[in-house]
Amino acid sequence: MTNTNNIVIIGGGHNGLVCAAYLAKAGKNVTVLEASEEVGGPAATREFAPGYKASCAHLLNLLDDGIREELELSSNGLSIAKENLTTIALAKDGNHITITPDSVEGSGLTAEDKAAYAEYRRFMTKFAGIIGAMHNLVPPRITTDKENLVPMAKLAWKVRMLGRDDMRELLRIGGINIYDVLKENFDNPLLKGALSLDAVLGTFSGPRSNNSVFTALHRMSGNNSGAAGAASIPAGGMGGVMQAIAGAASRAGAEIRISSPVKRILMDGMAVSGVELENGEQISASTVISNADVRTTILDLLGARHVEADFARRVSNIRSKGNAAKLHLALDGLPSFAGLNESQLGERLVIAPSVEYVEHAFNHCKYGEFSAQPVAEITLPSIHDRSLAPDGKHVLSAIVQYAPRELGTGWTEGKAAFSNAIMDVLETYAPDVRERTVATELLTPQDMEKEFGMTGGHWHHAELSLDQFLMLRPVPRSAQYKSPVDGLYLCGAGCHPGGGIMGSAGKNAANVILADQ
Ligand SMILES: Cc1cc2nc3c(=O)[nH]c(=O)nc-3n(C[C@H](O)[C@H](O)[C@H](O)COP(=O)(O)OP(=O)(O)OC[C@H]3O[C@@H](n4cnc5c(N)ncnc54)[C@H](O)[C@@H]3O)c2cc1C
Repeated sequence: MTNTNNIVIIGGGHNGLVCAAYLAKAGKNVTVLEASEEVGGPAATREFAPGYKASCAHLLNLLDDGIREELELSSNGLSIAKENLTTIALAKDGNHITITPDSVEGSGLTAEDKAAYAEYRRFMTKFAGIIGAMHNLVPPRITTDKENLVPMAKLAWKVRMLGRDDMRELLRIGGINIYDVLKENFDNPLLKGALSLDAVLGTFSGPRSNNSVFTALHRMSGNNSGAAGAASIPAGGMGGVMQAIAGAASRAGAEIRISSPVKRILMDGMAVSGVELENGEQISASTVISNADVRTTILDLLGARHVEADFARRVSNIRSKGNAAKLHLALDGLPSFAGLNESQLGERLVIAPSVEYVEHAFNHCKYGEFSAQPVAEITLPSIHDRSLAPDGKHVLSAIVQYAPRELGTGWTEGKAAFSNAIMDVLETYAPDVRERTVATELLTPQDMEKEFGMTGGHWHHAELSLDQFLMLRPVPRSAQYKSPVDGLYLCGAGCHPGGGIMGSAGKNAANVILADQ
């Protein structure tokens, strides 16, 4: 054993770093061990072609304001290149519609659709606020003691305080699908398509899947210094946010070691005693916190033999089939999207022309195929941040769905074909995009699993759904960031409140550990 630090965090994703920062601020001796050469997991900014950089996670829409302030992320270098992006729902004929938190504009929209949009934002924002208010709460246990009943009662009270009509509406739509809700409210296909994309990004679901209202609400549940769901482009890519959080952790005294993959968690009797790295080095610790996904933590790093069979079974049944691929294009100049000027090109562009189109795109992945006509969330971050591309050049960053973790034909063969399918779709909106492209990187969920160690390459580490939420996340009896093993804690996106760059799982885990010590 070469080190006597008493708290070790496996993984320097943003949640591991946030957890480290809070623990170090409380005076704890913390070491973060990150497998990769950079912290941040899929949120790290990487050079994907000479001079061109991008991060897989590209839009900041959930980062908790409280964490931002408490960790003084601005003084630690957090800077936003473009705030409050407008969403532009692309139409092939250039008659796009623009969507902001306050309004929706564009040809073909009726006065009824515009009014319905204002009402949709009103009730969705209100309902999302209930989820948002839970972000920094440790999920209560299902028991009858006061300590757990009080938070449950507070939650029930928040729902009741919606008022009778809104409470009924939340109960009615909370478990159904976004397709039905959008159909009830709107006529415009482009508007419905774009709003349905928000419900399915990063999940294994289509607009007609149950839970898709819940995932839409989750996406809007952040308070990222703006309206519900407001998205911004961080300077330096999402890696800029990671560096700021790592800076806060280091300043507070945490040690962050990169290129330090953990091979296994060490046990002394029934409690953890440290970790062993791939290179054989052992580090002793009375507390080990894992930012790796829960399946990796329990089944691979700890070993199922150290937990009860029922717990191991539940962990192996966590659903985490990744579906989102990431496309990075190095461009020799800005592509021309029909109907968009340069300043509009810097907004959030979505390809989801109708809710039916999105559902068809999803159908493929149920059968181990990629979407023949994928949906996409596109940004050109280099318009706002010149550090990401050489002079005069640009980066196109797109989340593309659907790309199943397991492709029937295998990704070795399938990758070029999927890349082609995406470019074919992009070309229908931006005819010169192929000729402007000098290098392409396409990361499938399988690549992300390999590169960032996330089981299934899943955005949330574990599917975000009502049966894997709050006190059921990641599995019952470990929803309070504790594993059944003494001294082993969890702090990643697989815990409440799920994935996205928000930091709450890391902060909540730190609070639980501090209370235990
Ligand atoms: C394609 C894609 C696009 C996304 N886009 C967005 C977006 O635009 N906005 C947004 O908010 N979110 C986005 N997300 C989601 C977001 O990136 C994740 O939810 C978030 O990164 C989870 O953070 P985390 O800290 O919990 O875990 P991770 O970021 O997964 O970090 C876990 C860390 O643990 C490390 N690790 C794993 N095993 C070991 C080991 N054995 N030893 C040492 N280290 C280990 C990994 O290398 C990694 O750094 C996206 C995700 C994907 C996949």
